[in-house]
Amino acid sequence: MTSPVEPLPVPGDPLGELRALAAQRETAGMQRTLRPRAAHDDVLDLASNDYLGLCRDPRVIEAGVVAVRSWGAGATGSRLVTGSTELHAALEHELADFTGTGAALVFSSGYLANLGAVAALSGPGALVVSDALNHASVVDACRLSRADVVVAGHGDVAAIERALSRRTADRAVVVTDAVFSVDGDLAPLAELHAVTRAHGALLVIDEAHALGVVGTDGSGAARAAGLAGEPDVVLTATLSKSLGAQGGAVLGDPVVVEHLVNTARAFIFDTGLAPASVGAAHAALTVLRAEPGLAAAARDRAHDIVRLLRDHGMQPSAPQAAVVSAPMGSPAAAVASAARLLERGVRVGCFRPPSVPDGVSRLRLTARADLTETDLARLDAALGAMPRSTGT
Ligand code: PMP
Repeated sequence: MTSPVEPLPVPGDPLGELRALAAQRETAGMQRTLRPRAAHDDVLDLASNDYLGLCRDPRVIEAGVVAVRSWGAGATGSRLVTGSTELHAALEHELADFTGTGAALVFSSGYLANLGAVAALSGPGALVVSDALNHASVVDACRLSRADVVVAGHGDVAAIERALSRRTADRAVVVTDAVFSVDGDLAPLAELHAVTRAHGALLVIDEAHALGVVGTDGSGAARAAGLAGEPDVVLTATLSKSLGAQGGAVLGDPVVVEHLVNTARAFIFDTGLAPASVGAAHAALTVLRAEPGLAAAARDRAHDIVRLLRDHGMQPSAPQAAVVSAPMGSPAAAVASAARLLERGVRVGCFRPPSVPDGVSRLRLTARADLTETDLARLDAALGAMPRSTGT
């Protein structure tokens, strides 16, 4: 029997579907575009993650420059080949000391630190329990782990305990942001640790928005909760927010770090973090340790921002770190409000679905330790020029 002859595929537009999807996004107000900023503009930045204002601190910049001069523009190879320098080792020593952990391992981004840690500590056959509002890098880490993943409701410690008590796997990991990136709320770390300890699971805490901001000296949420140095607690962090540079880290027991050096693919198969970033992050850490009041200043400025938003009829939640989140009535209202504020010289973040899985669009304003009275007055004036109906 002869099979019917298949028609040859008509050579079409290989990008046609992508164009159609872009048109759909445009219609739904979901199209994202890059807006390159100038090196120096007159905009008040309340959208960056430079919580301590250290990105342009002369001491931090100088350390980056010195590192480039001494070590070159790149790390030249993966950490296990040529990419580990004395500079990396010194930063790792300092990070572990500051956060009260036994050891640290620097990755080339916080995203990769999460991929590396979660995947290497779990794996096929293991259980990973992840908070529903964890950062996308944690979500991707769970997917990459090939473990059985249970997504627990946001902050729902009882649901996490249920998942752990039903498990058949030997290995179990619970992973949570310390400070959630969109709403800025703190995870119930002490309760989570009590549950993971009781069930023999590891607790992985992403300190991205907590390092430099949470704790009296900015040493992070785990330390503030009394969990630093616990053998069953592993921290991940980024060097790109309060430390003003670039890169990531995993911190924990030396056994954990040795395991990652040997098994974390996001570490092994990636070029080491560039020396400029290592040097700059180390200098930022030195500044933070010399000026521990920076952390409280960032948190205080977050309270100032909340006060102003409330004065103008918005309903932000009380800040627990430097992130301030103000719910908006719709994606369009969020986009329009962010655009109006920018017209008035204030840059804020705008979060809408699908970045926010709960579907609530928000403005996200980030405080910085170096915000001045003049900056706050400028925000006040810009908010005064917005229609009051945009909030919920
Ligand atoms: N974790 C959280 C909670 C984050 O918000 C981010 C960055 N936005 C990351 C990890 C990733 O860090 P990096 O930007 O250094 O890759």
